[in-house]
Amino acid sequence: MLEVREIHKWYGPFHAVRGVTFAASRGQVVGLLGPNGAGKTTTIRMITGVFPPSRGTISIDGLSIRADPEASRRLIGYLPESAPLYPEMSVTGYLQYRARLFAVPSADRTGAIERALSLTSLEEVRHKRISALSKGFRQRVGLAAAALHRPGLLVLDEPANGLDPTQIRQMRETIRSLAQDSCVLLSSHILSEVELTCDRVIVIASGRVLADGTPAELRQRHAPESAILIEIADAETTAATIAVRSTPGVAEIDPGPSENGWRTLRVRLRQTKDASPSDQLAAVARSLHNVGVVPRVLTPDAPGLERVFHSLLESSAESPGAAA
Ligand code: ATP
Repeated sequence: MLEVREIHKWYGPFHAVRGVTFAASRGQVVGLLGPNGAGKTTTIRMITGVFPPSRGTISIDGLSIRADPEASRRLIGYLPESAPLYPEMSVTGYLQYRARLFAVPSADRTGAIERALSLTSLEEVRHKRISALSKGFRQRVGLAAAALHRPGLLVLDEPANGLDPTQIRQMRETIRSLAQDSCVLLSSHILSEVELTCDRVIVIASGRVLADGTPAELRQRHAPESAILIEIADAETTAATIAVRSTPGVAEIDPGPSENGWRTLRVRLRQTKDASPSDQLAAVARSLHNVGVVPRVLTPDAPGLERVFHSLLESSAESPGAAA
């Protein structure tokens, strides 16, 4: 669906995007994740044809946006950071205007509007003026407008910006339903949001791709360490510590404080090629079982995407010349 190859953007002498490459297909929600100034909006503007890349190529369903700007732009729905809405219009009035703008054939317009209203759960406010809607609803109107002409690629720049937690959850559900027959590319600097919404995450910083994969793959590849949490009766701390320490793959044990007769041990593991995290968890469980300790909790302490993200940013800052 979308193929981005080695794109660069210079603003005058400033090299804002430095060789970004990735591909994405229909049915996928792909998140561009990066700190402020990483180059997300610049990348998105090149993909949506706002301006061309200084170098590199972008194609949508095989159409080059440079060679076929009109045809390729019809395949894109774009929701910029602040949705271009007309506050004095009603929701349906605005969608009718957008349907004409995107040359949706008049016979298909009513159906297209109904579908967009339903996908974004806007049926109840269809006759309201946009100025009377909350920020979350206005954002959904922007999404409905972007999805109206059934684009194969939906590009959303910071769609959760300024929304409260409930609105963010609703936005996530809307995005997932839109991804049923489109490829959704969204940008965000909200890690938890990306982790919950996206099938795939492309981490960018200083105009470069630092990592690309599912949240689980990124955690596995880039997590600084993995660990297991064990909660045991305080009286069994010594026996458990000795047993766990002798388990292959265990690097260190950090005991937590004792609370109401229970204690949590955080077991740090060495990453090994031979044993998966589940194998390591099973080995620790066996060691405890062998000394008769029954833990109340035994669970992987999965590193959040946040740790992965910070470790990636730190390593890119240490080697600023490093490319993807
Ligand atoms: P944010 O999350 O803050 O929106 P971003 O990841 O979207 O950041 P961009 O807006 O793409 O980042 O900006 C990338 C870099 O390019 C930044 O250093 C920014 O200052 C610079 N930049 C963006 N637009 C221009 C411009 N028109 N002229 C010069 N520099 C620009």
